[in-house]
Order: sequence, then C-alpha cells, then structure tokens
Amino acid sequence: MFRWVKGVRSFSSAASSLLADATTAAKLRQPASFQVFRDVPPLRQLRRKLLKNDRTVGFVPTMGALHEGHISLIRQAARENTDIFVSIFVNPTQFGVNEDLSSYPRTWDSDVEKLEALNEELARVEAETGSGAKAGRITAIFAPTSKVMYPTLPPSSEIDGDGSFVTITPLSTKLEGGSRPVFFRGVATVCMKLFNATTPDRVYFGQKDVQQTVVIKRMVQDFHIGTEVRIVNTTREPTGLALSSRNVYLGERRRAVGLTIYRALKAAEEAYLAGKTSRADILGAARSVTDTVLAEQHALSKTERSLFEVDYISLADPDSLEELDFVDAAKGGVLSAALKMAPLEETKPGEDCGLGDGKVPVRLIDNLILHPKA
Ligand code: AMP
Repeated sequence: MFRWVKGVRSFSSAASSLLADATTAAKLRQPASFQVFRDVPPLRQLRRKLLKNDRTVGFVPTMGALHEGHISLIRQAARENTDIFVSIFVNPTQFGVNEDLSSYPRTWDSDVEKLEALNEELARVEAETGSGAKAGRITAIFAPTSKVMYPTLPPSSEIDGDGSFVTITPLSTKLEGGSRPVFFRGVATVCMKLFNATTPDRVYFGQKDVQQTVVIKRMVQDFHIGTEVRIVNTTREPTGLALSSRNVYLGERRRAVGLTIYRALKAAEEAYLAGKTSRADILGAARSVTDTVLAEQHALSKTERSLFEVDYISLADPDSLEELDFVDAAKGGVLSAALKMAPLEETKPGEDCGLGDGKVPVRLIDNLILHPKA
C-alpha cells in the first residue's frame, strides 16, 4: 500500500485515507434495502438497467457522517426521481496538506441505518397517502475506495501536485478558496468522477455550501455534463445553527458561541431587507455582531469562554462570487461567512465538550441569500 503512495512529497493525507478505506472495507455492513457498490463497473451495470427501464436517477454525493441536512437532499431526490444513488466518500484531494483528513467523522453503520430508515419511511408514506404518487427509493450506495477514485496516481493535496484535476477558476479562488487553495479543485475533480460513474439525471447539493453549488453549476455548464443541478435549502438546528458533520466536535459551549455566524448573517440580511444596499451598511451590521460577541468572550474566564476568529464575511454576486460594493436589488446577492472556532482553553469537570474533548478546531461556514426585490 505504501509503495503506491511513493513519490508523493507529502503523503500523510493520502496514506491516512487509504488506511481509513481499509478499515472501512473490513467493516462494511450490508444493508437490506439497497446495494452497496465499492467499484464502478457493477454500478454502471445497474445504471444501464435502470436507463433501459425508463427509470430516473437522482444522485446525492456526501462524505458520510449523515445528518438531517443530507437526508433533506435525499428526500427531495425521492420526490423527483425513481431511484436515488448516494455516495459516501471522504475525498482526500479536497483536504489541504495542513488539514486533518483523519479527524473527519466516519460513521458507516449509523449512516446505513439512517438510509435504511429513510427507505422504510418513503415506502410507508407512499402506502399511507394512497394517492398513487410514487416516491423514489435509495437503490445504491456508492462507497468507493481511494484507489477506485484515483486509479493511476495517488490523490495529491499539493497545490502543484500531479494528477488529473478539474479546475474552475476564478470561482475556486474566492471565499473558501482564499484559505483552502486546493479545496474546490478537489471538490470539482471528485464530482466529475462521481458524475461519470453514476451518470445521474439530477444531482443534489445543499445551499449550506453555496460556493460549491456555484462551482458545480459552472462545471456542469462548461463541460456539457448532461445532468440537472438541484439546490436544497439549508437544514438548521432550532437555534438557527446550520447542521454540519463537523458540529459533533463543538460541544455545548462552542455550539452556543458558534451560533454567532448565523446571527451575524441574519443582522446583515435584516439591514438589506430594511433597504440598505451598500457593503458598508450590510456587512457593518454583521461585523458589529461578531465584534460584540468576541469582546464578551474575551472578558470571560478560560473555563467559560469560547474564542473564535472571523475568517471572512462576504457580500458577493450570486453567479460570479465577485465581492459587491452595492447590491443591485434586481439581482440580489450572497452573504456568506466562515468562523474558526478555537479549541477550548480550559474545560470544567463533566462539561459536554463534544467529540475530541473540545480540542479539535472547528471551521463553521454559513450563508444567506439576499433575494432580488421586485
Ligand atoms: P458533505 O457530506 O458535508 O460533503 O455534504 C454533502 C452534501 O450535503 C453537500 O451538498 C452539502 O451542501 C449538503 N449539506 C451539508 N449540510 C447541509 C445542511 N445543513 N443543509 C442542507 N444540505 C447540507
């Protein structure tokens, strides 16, 4: 296995992903209501059969650690397709060399349970409504190994690393791309591979990752990929915090302070809805929330506070993601932000600090759409 990664200047990410693959492969539990595919040819066989039978495929790519946000994508796919393919693959090339791929949560058994429960629910609701309206079902889980996804060269996260990559510029260099230079190259590359393996009628992405939706739409358009890109609203906790696989690392204290990202975006949205159009007015409202909370946290003791850093707060054009000085009310805009939640400095006995005891830094991203005004 390690001979395969020879020649990569920094192979820690690639190697840990291969190890994770090996452990996962040994443990894969086989579900009852859908098939699990580890390789492309058998999945293609199923796809051809479905095509011959005039069935439609909605594809939902994920990195696993499934939550209600992912499930909402699958529910929408079930309303619009006869068959749903879900991929579960933690893609190494979208993690930078300094980002910790190994700490990404991997929860195969509970993911499969959630998908089986959803299939049962879809069947039950269909039977109960009795209206004849058919809901689609999850037919296939695609859980490839890294070797399947990167069959020739090992997956490189280096900026100038070798490999076959899809780059979508300048979109990929903005916002998230500013602090994560290989992220969207990795995302576009893995999505191109997944789309080629599944040839779906429709693909489903969450609004939660707004830049990803813009990059994927651009890729589909520029490469003439024959699929329809569907965007699904962000699923939030009752407080407003956007669901994310990484939230398991937050714990109670950081979860409460992490909500600042949503509160800041809401303040900016309110400014826009109240008639403000300038960047200074709209983003000023967001900044005032983050500055206030940060000052409050600094004033607390180490056992009480949760510090964070604002990576960016942006007001951008919805198509080009170019930063805006003014919002054109006929076009609207995208408000987005990233906060880096620092590890807790000191914890209290019995405190719920989340997975990793509050030591894992968590980067939160969120966004709100400023809709055009009539
Ligand atoms: P991930 O597993 O984090 O790569 O996410 C897989 C898909 O789920 C992406 O299209 C995400 O945008 C989407 N997603 C993640 N969190 C949410 C959420 N809270 N609401 C809606 N979609 C989400």
